[in-house]
Amino acid sequence: MAQEDVFKKLVAHCKEYGFVFQSSEIYDGLGAVYDYGQNGVELKNNIKKYWWDSMVLLHDNVVGLDSAIFMHPTVWKASGHVDAFNDPLIDNKDSKKRYRADVLIEDLMAKYDAKVDKEVEKAAKRFGESFDEAMFRETNPRVQENLAKKEEIHQRFVKALNDNDLVELRQIIVDYEVVCPISGTKNWTDVRQFNLMFATEMGSTSEGAHKVFLRPETAQGIFVNFLNVQKTGRMKIPFGIAQIGKAFRNEIVARQFIFRMREFEQMEMQFFVAPGEELQWFEKWKETRMKWHKSLGLGDHKYRFHDHDKLAHYANAATDIEYEMPFGFKEVEGIHSRTDFDLSQHQQFSGKKISYFDPERNESYVPYVVETSIGVDRMFLSILAGSYCEEEVPGKDGKTESRVVLKLPPVLAPVKLAVLPLVKKDGLPELARSIVDDLKFHFNCQYDEKDSIGKRYRRQDAVGTPFCVTIDHQSAEDQTVTIRHRDTMAQERVKIADLKHLIMEKVSMTELFKKMQ
Ligand code: ATP
Repeated sequence: MAQEDVFKKLVAHCKEYGFVFQSSEIYDGLGAVYDYGQNGVELKNNIKKYWWDSMVLLHDNVVGLDSAIFMHPTVWKASGHVDAFNDPLIDNKDSKKRYRADVLIEDLMAKYDAKVDKEVEKAAKRFGESFDEAMFRETNPRVQENLAKKEEIHQRFVKALNDNDLVELRQIIVDYEVVCPISGTKNWTDVRQFNLMFATEMGSTSEGAHKVFLRPETAQGIFVNFLNVQKTGRMKIPFGIAQIGKAFRNEIVARQFIFRMREFEQMEMQFFVAPGEELQWFEKWKETRMKWHKSLGLGDHKYRFHDHDKLAHYANAATDIEYEMPFGFKEVEGIHSRTDFDLSQHQQFSGKKISYFDPERNESYVPYVVETSIGVDRMFLSILAGSYCEEEVPGKDGKTESRVVLKLPPVLAPVKLAVLPLVKKDGLPELARSIVDDLKFHFNCQYDEKDSIGKRYRRQDAVGTPFCVTIDHQSAEDQTVTIRHRDTMAQERVKIADLKHLIMEKVSMTELFKKMQ
């Protein structure tokens, strides 16, 4: 199936099974704003817990914070967001659609990569076992030609970004004949800068209202609380502050479902270190964060690092963790070495001293910062994309039938166990309910007695429930049930008394964390 179709199906699936709904849908929706349904909110909460516990529980030098969305307007002057939180936008004059110029160019480069991959795929089929991919990539003229084209664009792109040269950005789009996907024309406007912050007013007008912003990132709440947390928590450098919260960006183009939203959620951790030690910590956090992603078991080959082409003026290292979405490798998390820029700026703009006395060095300094920043919603999308499967499975009377199954990591699945009485009589519903009542304190259980067992299994597969147990007449006699495993569909008879242990082993985050250490 083409990846585009997979993505469309995934979006439809999210709606049909209560994961994600468009915001204000009965009013035809609001662009790039989404709501999470009954299953979505469970999955999202589990993602947040997986992140929070891995940061705050597993590291005794990382503590949490929950700062407000509204902040003093000068915060955003100091952070640089008022003057420079811009994206370069370009309009197509025929379709009247707006695009990010940098994204159009990144997509253009990805097309050359895709051409190379196609050549490699064709050759691999042709040569079979004896195919030497590395050699082919180095010597095949068509591959070389495409790579050279991409590199040529890449060089111009990086230079234009670094020089803030909007004319050159447009020229790249013109020179490589990028067309608007809607109108199919090359009729482009100039490239302009567009500030992504939402503004609103605080206070009644009679008092003199002032302009405030909806925060575009959670990080600044951490920086302005650095001294509060350090002093009241008696924290010693190196230490980190972690926060989960909403962020808002007036994104120019928001067409990729929950990948790019105007209201979204971030999980950010700022790690404060002594000057000169930041690059070593940057490497350490890169490794820790990649391990966190890969431990979910969606496939190591689906992740890669992508170093930034253009470093922000305050950063001395930056990389993204990318995940292979149905529309290509895309950023899910950013890891940045931000030097002492943020704390120094706040020191300057607030007039308050922000420094740390290091007893080991016997000196005071403004700490350096390594940041890990991940979007909850993008993580959610990557998990769903990696879990969505359509399979042919053995059905009734020796025929095959198809099933849609979300092979979610069990620790993240919204429902861990479905309890299904075979019939709605003979005391089976009561026994099933007593199992739910017993286990619901440990993990999320669901009781379902409607429709045939086959249909109930399919419903649970579609929301990614890792375990179903069926209660039959034998259960009442010998206190055993049939447990069915989602991915293999294998069934086994187990004692009711063993269920908790058996399931906990697979769905508990503690077990996963122990394996990660
Ligand atoms: P992009 O280049 O895709 O716009 P970014 O580099 O601006 O992203 P950061 O400012 O580094 O993103 O934000 C950190 C993380 O927050 C990103 O890795 C992403 O997971 C998430 N994020 C950023 N913008 C959005 C958005 N509009 N919708 C959903 N998640 C987002």
